[in-house]
Amino acid sequence: MTEAVRKLGIMGGTFDPIHFGHLVTAEAARKEFGLERVLFLPSGTPPHKNPQGVSDAEHRYMMTVLATLSNPYFDVSRVDIDREGISYTVDTLRILREQYGDDTELYFITGADAILEIMRWKSSDELLQLAQFIGATRPGFELDSIPPETKAWLDQYPDRVHMIKVPALAISSTDIRERVRSGNSIRYLVPEPVEHYIRRNGLYK
Ligand code: ATP
Ligand code: MG
Repeated sequence: MTEAVRKLGIMGGTFDPIHFGHLVTAEAARKEFGLERVLFLPSGTPPHKNPQGVSDAEHRYMMTVLATLSNPYFDVSRVDIDREGISYTVDTLRILREQYGDDTELYFITGADAILEIMRWKSSDELLQLAQFIGATRPGFELDSIPPETKAWLDQYPDRVHMIKVPALAISSTDIRERVRSGNSIRYLVPEPVEHYIRRNGLYK
């Protein structure tokens, strides 16, 4: 078992690259739910993305470390990166549950768009037992637009699934990669050390 943490936030993502949308969301969730720590988990081989199109895990890991260094509440885990094959959220949560023990409440933080995919994930019932879920609204996503059957499903778990509003940050990794490719500025969209790392390593060209 690792250190004793009562409330642990978990922010999963491809982080290709990590940007201020991720960081603002994690910080908002930390404050709102009194999380003692937020663990960033760069994915190994992401289940929903073409593996060929995703940057090397070590680059994504390094950028995540650089971006979170200045926040004493933020940490980065290699759990998904060091595992072979596709990392399903349910497997990741099982490992973290094992590492931290039963006294730690796990809060899985995701964009609200992604939380709706919970229904499509394998073992959603087990997921909800393992962790609570915090869905952050992001630009272009309207809570009103949730399909009624999804809404009904979410309403069954009012104490396991929560929604928070974060300042509207229309930042996405896709847009950042596109900007780099076309020679546009990514300043103020990602932390400065991440910007330097991307340039130094010639990523997204
Ligand atoms: P891509 O454009 O490659 O899909 P992304 O910007 O969505 O990248 P991911 O690494 O896929 O970044 O996202 C990790 C998590 O952060 C997901 O749960 C996603 O919903 C959430 N997220 C991404 N961007 C934002 C944002 N601007 N505000 C709030 N949450 C975000
Ligand atoms: Mg995404």
